[in-house]
Parts: sequence; C-alpha cells; structure tokens
Amino acid sequence: MTIEDFRPTQKITTFYPPQRVLMGPGPSDTHSRVLSAMARPTLGHLDPVFTAMMEELKSLLRYAFQTKNLMTFPVSGPGSVGMEMCFVNMIVPGDKVIVCRNGVFGSRMIENVERHGGVAVVVDDKWGEPVDPQKVEDALKQNPDAKILAFVHAETSTGVLSDAKTLCELAHRHGCLNIVDTVTSLGGSPLKVDEWGIDAIYSGSQKCLSCPPGLSPVSFSERVIELVKNRKEKVHSWFMDLNLLLGYWGTTRTYHHTAPTNALYALHESLFMLYEEGLEHSWARHDRNYKALKAGLETFGMKYVVDERYRLPQLNAVYVPEGVDEKEVRRRLLDEYNLEIGAGLGDFAGKIWRFGLMGYSSKIENIVLCLNALETVFSDMGMKLEHGAAESAAHHSYAANPMPSKFSE
Ligand SMILES: *Cc1c(COP(=O)(O)O)cnc(C)c1O
Repeated sequence: MTIEDFRPTQKITTFYPPQRVLMGPGPSDTHSRVLSAMARPTLGHLDPVFTAMMEELKSLLRYAFQTKNLMTFPVSGPGSVGMEMCFVNMIVPGDKVIVCRNGVFGSRMIENVERHGGVAVVVDDKWGEPVDPQKVEDALKQNPDAKILAFVHAETSTGVLSDAKTLCELAHRHGCLNIVDTVTSLGGSPLKVDEWGIDAIYSGSQKCLSCPPGLSPVSFSERVIELVKNRKEKVHSWFMDLNLLLGYWGTTRTYHHTAPTNALYALHESLFMLYEEGLEHSWARHDRNYKALKAGLETFGMKYVVDERYRLPQLNAVYVPEGVDEKEVRRRLLDEYNLEIGAGLGDFAGKIWRFGLMGYSSKIENIVLCLNALETVFSDMGMKLEHGAAESAAHHSYAANPMPSKFSE
C-alpha cells in the first residue's frame, strides 16, 4: 500500500450547495445575518470576549424560553442530544417515567427512558391528535411511584400542539417532575417555561430559531438541579453530566469541552433577531403565514391531518391529493424550484406532506413560491385548476388577517 492507494476515487471539488428554500420539518432557511455571524473570527473558547458573548446568549435564551432559570444554555449537539441530556441526568435505573406518545418523537423518548435503565409507562394517543390530559391523569393516579412525566409540546411528525401548561400542572400535582420537548415550538408557538412550571426543556437551533443545526438550547429548574446534585450514582454520561457542565456554563468557566464557538455566534445572532422582533410578534407572524398557506392549499382541495384547534402554524401536515405522485411532486419542487418540503414519517409515509413555516422560512415569498410551484406541478399531473387561484386565496387571507394592531407602528 502507498499513500496514493488512499486517494478518493470520485472527482472532488469545493462544495457549493445550491440556494434552496427550506419548507420542510427543519432545518429552516437561515438569515444572512446568522450565516455571516458564523464567518467571524474564531476565538478561544475561554477568551473573556467569548465568555461575555456566552452570558448574552444565556440571557437571550432565557427571554426565548420565558424563564429565570440560571441553568439555561445551548448544548453542543443537535436536539437529540438535548433530549438525551434530560433523560440521562434525571433517571436513575429503576425510575418509572410516564411518556406520552403521539408521534415519532414520543417514541424516541421511550427509547431514551429504557436505555438509561428507566421503566416507561406509555400513554398513547393517535398520530395527529394532541396528548390527552385525562389519560395522563389516569396514568399518574395508577402509578403513584412515577418520578417523571415526559411529552412533546409540538410533534413535528404530525403537526400537533399539546397543552403543555395543563400537562406540567398535572405532573406537579402528582409529585412528578416533567421533561418537555420544544424543538419545534420554541419561537413559533407560545411557550412559557416559568409560568407553566416546566422542569427540564430542550429545543433545537434549526427549527423556528432559523440557525444552522447542531445546537440544542436547554433549561433546567432548581428542582432538577437539586435532583442531579443529590444523585447517589454518577450520571451515566460524562459529556452530558449537568454537574460538570455547570462548571463551564456557570461562573467558574472550567474547561469541559471545546465549545463550538462559531456555531454559538450564529445562535447568538438568531436569538438576537428573535429578541429584536419580539416573541409575541414572532408567534403572530407564524400564525398569519400559516393561515395564508392554508387558504392556498385548500384551493387544491387539500386537507389537514390535525384539527384546527391543535394545529401548529409552523408545521402544516396535509394529505397528498388523490391521483398525485407524492415523490414526483417533491422531486420536481426540489429540482425545478429549489424548494424543499417534507415527506410523511411512519404510518404517514407516502400519505402526507409536511410544509414547514419555521422562523425565517415563515414569510410571504415562500408561500407564494410554494403555491405557484404546486399549481404548475399539479396541473401537469392532470389536476383541473383555476390559474392563480391559490396565490389569490393567500393574498385574501393576508388582507383578512392583518398583524394584530398592537404590533402596527
Ligand atoms: C427535530 C426534532 C428533534 C430532533 O432534533 P435533531 O436536531 O434532529 O436532533 C426532536 N424533537 C422534535 C419534536 C423535533 O422536531
């Protein structure tokens, strides 16, 4: 063997990704301000200039989460690491955890509970329906020894929002802590960590925060910090051990791992943009754009999976119309319009599309592009359509639903 034997066999050049429009389940479009923040000079991760930026980042995250929790910071890793971090710190083998499953991410929570030696008591709801608080209450009553209740606030596989406030109250009333997945809700749907009594929460950078993937904002209540500090056995993960991370993200700044500096600049910028816009404005914007997309999709006869009362504005799960080649539509949108939409997962594979309107992707240009592209592709596939009807319906929706007056200048 020589060095030459290890040469790549394919032709390799600099990688230039195409400019896509991202209307799937995440990642969402990234604003140029966020991308250029990433291109700024790399600093040492213990540099005082960098650690001052970390303090701002924590404050901005507390605003986004609506919490005073000191332990609020971004974990170096995608949303899945944030999820694992909650479970690995809070579970000791044998602990009973009530887990709600109404889509893909609830199943992953069960997987986490079991891998960390916990016993999962599963509360099932149908895909496309929110978690039923009555079933959760029954499970809490039947399992007085349960330690934790875990559920997904915004289920990205189906586009449904569950009532986090009620579920967290139920957990506390029955002596349980709670773990809440807000990967898709943070920034897009109302979320109030302190007011709702959320104990452990994780999110992701690439959904409604519109930052590149790879970071997971988390926050922990004092109740969780106490629990983890008083564990008899060590947390079964060195990297995710909250006690050790407290040293780096807390005030002592002891080396734990090398923080992904430039990725954190990007998160700082995207959170700063959310702060400039205002949380309530962002929530209202997501709602208004969802209504416009819905008005357009309905002109094609398309139906939503989720009842209007529980729908996520940032994740529109819609049935594929009869007689339409699901995969071919997505291929044409991507190849001809540079537009990405999401496919269905699990039982919904091949049956639904998921149109994401997350963060910076939630804007009129994307909706107009998407509706017009769909109109062309559908009519090529033989659907009888009135030219321009979808875009027109979206414009009517915007006119009928102005931004709430408290936001107009
Ligand atoms: C995307 C998503 C995750 C996983 O996040 P990754 O960054 O892909 O690891 C977890 N939960 C929900 C609800 C999600 O939408």
